Amino acid sequence: MTRLRTRAGLAAGAVLTGVLGAVVGLAQQGIDFDRVTVRSFKVQDNVFMLVGAGSNVTVQIGDDGVLVVDTQFAPMADKLLAEIARLSGGKPIRYVVNTHVHGDHTGGNARFREAGNAIVAGNVAFEIGGNAGALILAHENVQHRMVALQPGEAAPPAGSLPTDTFFDASDEVYFNGEAIELLHQPAAHTDGDILVHFRRSDVVSTGDIYNNTGYPFIDIARGGTINGIVDGLNRIVQITVPRDKQEGGTMVIPGHGRIADEADVVEYRDMITIIRDRIQDMVDKGLSLDAVKAARPTSDYDGRYGATSGFWTTDMFVEAVYRTLGGRP
Ligand SMILES: [Zn+2]
Repeated sequence: MTRLRTRAGLAAGAVLTGVLGAVVGLAQQGIDFDRVTVRSFKVQDNVFMLVGAGSNVTVQIGDDGVLVVDTQFAPMADKLLAEIARLSGGKPIRYVVNTHVHGDHTGGNARFREAGNAIVAGNVAFEIGGNAGALILAHENVQHRMVALQPGEAAPPAGSLPTDTFFDASDEVYFNGEAIELLHQPAAHTDGDILVHFRRSDVVSTGDIYNNTGYPFIDIARGGTINGIVDGLNRIVQITVPRDKQEGGTMVIPGHGRIADEADVVEYRDMITIIRDRIQDMVDKGLSLDAVKAARPTSDYDGRYGATSGFWTTDMFVEAVYRTLGGRP
């Protein structure tokens, strides 16, 4: 028993300090969670965006309860739950959806699951005594990445794991009178990314395929590629429909950063495509990584999106693009 308890303690601590991504874990270090407050924004119709520390959180609220997309870091969970209770008038959380595996999007899963209550009936309701906890929906690669750990990576607590996964191109939920599509985008930011499309509210929650705070993070160790990111951005542009003069209409909630619309995603897609094409050209000519970096293929965008410090620098982005386009090893 002691041993089990110790192991459980280690696992819980690992979510705080370690590597549900050695890379993504870095973003959590140095955050004073006690000082972070949660703010919410109404995006459109039934859908809200919450910000705190970590990913943006998408919340859909209606008569049937609450659906939440992504859960930030574990220490944020109770503050997020309090804000969701305020917005919804205390309605139960029925579903959690994860856009991908990273700890800044899944850290609160276990707490959300425990606080929530899925709609169940019949024998299931009898067997579990009424409270099923919230269901956690994700692409199956999210589950695989949580279980098949990389060297040095610690297991997340069992309650973080998705309860329902899918392995084909899409899944769907009908909730609060709204069709919600979960659209898999292969090999993009990771290998388990989904776009979450609220069809009646006319909102897309994109996870980290679209992050307007910087260049996209390509997690090569978890199956990410630049071409998958470009495909994902094109998919968002396909889904979104502007209302008037290319403004408004379908609203876009990025993984990180501000609420956007199609024109914002088009601008970002164009930038990423141009950089991709420049680096592909250099790869095709046989340039080394150092030569590509020296050519500064991102220089005209660095003022807006570049970074020389932090967990994802411009240099790291250029290297990830180079490698996933087949650059010299
Ligand atoms: Zn991520």
